[in-house]
Amino acid sequence: MTVMSAPPLVLCIAGHDPSGGAGVIADVQAVSALGCHPLSVITALTVQDSRNVREVAPVTAALIERQLELLLEDSRISAIKIGLIGEPAQIPVIARLIERCGVPVVLDPVLRAGGGGDLASAAVQRALIDQLMPRVTVCTPNAAEARRLAGSDDLQAGAAMLLALGCANLLITGGDEPTPGSVYNTWHRAQAEPRTWLWPRLPQGFHGAGCTLASVIAARLALGDALEAALDNAQRWVHEALARSYAIGQGRRIPNRLPNRLPNRLPNRLPGQQ
Ligand code: PLP
Repeated sequence: MTVMSAPPLVLCIAGHDPSGGAGVIADVQAVSALGCHPLSVITALTVQDSRNVREVAPVTAALIERQLELLLEDSRISAIKIGLIGEPAQIPVIARLIERCGVPVVLDPVLRAGGGGDLASAAVQRALIDQLMPRVTVCTPNAAEARRLAGSDDLQAGAAMLLALGCANLLITGGDEPTPGSVYNTWHRAQAEPRTWLWPRLPQGFHGAGCTLASVIAARLALGDALEAALDNAQRWVHEALARSYAIGQGRRIPNRLPNRLPNRLPNRLPGQQ
């Protein structure tokens, strides 16, 4: 028997999207593709497809807490990714987890689906700002989410405000901005000038790009990247996954997080089958 050492463990705390485009399926695919092992604690079930979200049904904070307790007793986690929050009571449970683990944490503040459906109440938003953003390594809102969190239409001023409230690093993604030709993603941090990455704008719309980016950053941090390298490597990886995206239905396309899967046109019968 060959004994293999375990890959880094990345804990994904996220909602379940049955379409597999976003949420915990996206996280598990991305973390696995990066060579890490995913642990997942689901915050909410959703009713959605590749077009939009119709319902969010939260898991109780107590059940989430019991899952986290058991995992922490058994395993050493290298990084945490947080996505959709099902209800405000989940937030203190997750904040305590962050304090206890002392590992890098990536927060993707999921406020609204790309299809327009609302995914966070005002109470969740407030608790994200007060209790989670000051505790995480990096928070990765898209431009609309950053404006909503900051309560300001001016992204620069909004970013400065969120940093002043204790968020150490913000990567504001611009895929949802009306900038033809390019997507601008900007890293804001307290003690240094912002850094902007420019990516060629792909013509399609995507479902689950934000979840994928946050998970890949968490996996890169778990693998030992410093934050700037993790942000850089993860954006490049996600850009490639978006460039080879596919459609699963009538809505937005899904990032291809597993490009090395079997060819998608298998013969009807495998060799040797009748
Ligand atoms: N559903 C869940 C469970 C999510 O976590 C997210 C985003 O992070 C979404 C839906 C929305 O994804 P998108 O904005 O790509 O449509």
